[in-house]
Amino acid sequence: ADRFMTPERKPEDIDAALRPRSLDEFVGQKAARENLRVFIAAAKSRGDALDHVLFFGPPGLGKTTLAQIVAREMGVGFRATSGPVIAKSGDLAALLTNLEDGDVLFIDEIHRLAPAVEEVLYPAMEDRALDLMIGEGPSARSVRIDLPRFTLVGATTRQGLLTTPLRDRFGIPVRLNFYTVDELERVVARAASLLDLHVSGDGAHEIARRSRGTPRIAGRLLRRVRDFANVAGTPMVDARAADAALNRLEVDSLGLDAMDRRYLMMIADIYRGGPVGVETLAAGLSEPRDTIEEVIEPYLIQLGLIARTARGRCLNAGGWKHLGLNPPADSQD
Ligand code: ADP
Repeated sequence: ADRFMTPERKPEDIDAALRPRSLDEFVGQKAARENLRVFIAAAKSRGDALDHVLFFGPPGLGKTTLAQIVAREMGVGFRATSGPVIAKSGDLAALLTNLEDGDVLFIDEIHRLAPAVEEVLYPAMEDRALDLMIGEGPSARSVRIDLPRFTLVGATTRQGLLTTPLRDRFGIPVRLNFYTVDELERVVARAASLLDLHVSGDGAHEIARRSRGTPRIAGRLLRRVRDFANVAGTPMVDARAADAALNRLEVDSLGLDAMDRRYLMMIADIYRGGPVGVETLAAGLSEPRDTIEEVIEPYLIQLGLIARTARGRCLNAGGWKHLGLNPPADSQD
């Protein structure tokens, strides 16, 4: 019904519109998907809540989407929040006590929980209980409140960012990896049909190949390609139309954007291929260190363009080649 009411969905709605809604619709991440299917079926057959799940991997790979799918497949409610939003332990206590039996509580960026808030999670996850302090001074006492059964689903970019006690309390840790080009082709084809856009096989391939292994980027590029196609009156997006649009968006042949190239250029140009420390790069690029480590570097490492070494970041032969430069004559590389 929504569709007829609003001719254009707001951009922030479109992401939601493209989200797969079941494990069957979810493309790629085969191992994660098949394991979750078993754990969900087992929990349901026992009439239990699913054990706590931790999704970790770079942004845009489907952590939020999978959390929603887990709730839907379990047939339970879904509540979402994020680490930095929960300021006080009381905020988390309020969230927990308001859950319905079996609910999924999704905490994005769970590594950014304040330590005092995290302490509240331990007994909640382990014993389904909340320890509250009542009163102050000598008359203060602790009371224990039972919580409904619930599944905590946490998401983080790297498992290692979590404290050990928190990490240990997740029974189901799930790593998400970059998608293959084939998988992203299917993501693009599916999204194109949801957007009523005609994309040829080679058009989908071109977009997929330049999406940094990331479904969110594939969706975003597809929408921009659609803009160019609409304005140009192109009835079918083929490889040429996709290539032209992506070039105008400054997405290069490997799918790297301007930021990725600035990062590579800085190591090449100023640090002669490295090694150079991440803090130095962060300062030079005016980007937070987290963004460099969690957004920019994982894909460049996956492509083999750079290496993280104990002494810092180094440009590999492939990195020099991609920039169209030669390593300095005295370089080891
Ligand atoms: P994360 O939480 O890891 O940052 P999201 O779950 O928000 O990523 O996914 C970003 C977008 O990418 C979603 O809105 C969805 O449209 C798309 N997406 C993610 N994973 C898939 C997938 N496996 N198949 C199809 N689309 C996907």
